[in-house]
Amino acid sequence: MKKTAIFPGSFDPFTKGHEDIVLRGLELFDHIIIGIGHNSAKHNRYFDIDKMVSYIEEAFTDHPNVSVLVYNELTAELAKKYDARFLLRGLRNTTDFEYENSISQVNRFLNERLESVFLITSPQLAAISSSIIREVHRYDGDISEFLPYQLD
Ligand code: ADP
Repeated sequence: MKKTAIFPGSFDPFTKGHEDIVLRGLELFDHIIIGIGHNSAKHNRYFDIDKMVSYIEEAFTDHPNVSVLVYNELTAELAKKYDARFLLRGLRNTTDFEYENSISQVNRFLNERLESVFLITSPQLAAISSSIIREVHRYDGDISEFLPYQLD
């Protein structure tokens, strides 16, 4: 049976840390859906969501088994809709662990067939976080080194 995983997140922006999780996830899954969680009623993103979809697609042009979508519902429901039995997430540190532990319990409660799978960050990418990248960009710093696509 085809194994589909959802990689959910805000991806504001999608970074080389995220790309690494997806590329490593492709060793485990046949298809990975990158799901950008977005509540359109709250305009609280830094990077434009449609642009981010295009950037991510650009980063994975060589990988037809990676797709990108925007969603505005429970991740557990999205997984049911796409027949995805796995949630893929990355772990950088104990703070990530505490958070991921709680949400994976809730997700399993909401959808008992859903298994969360965690990949430990690659050490050279461990310091990359979307929030720090946003701060650097806000003050006109160069963030291109941290992104797997070119900003336009
Ligand atoms: P969220 O808003 O759900 O926290 P993010 O977009 O910040 O989502 O991150 C999505 C997932 O990617 C999370 O599991 C996060 O821990 C993981 N992640 C973020 N940056 C890295 C990194 N540098 N290395 C490994 N995993 C990462």
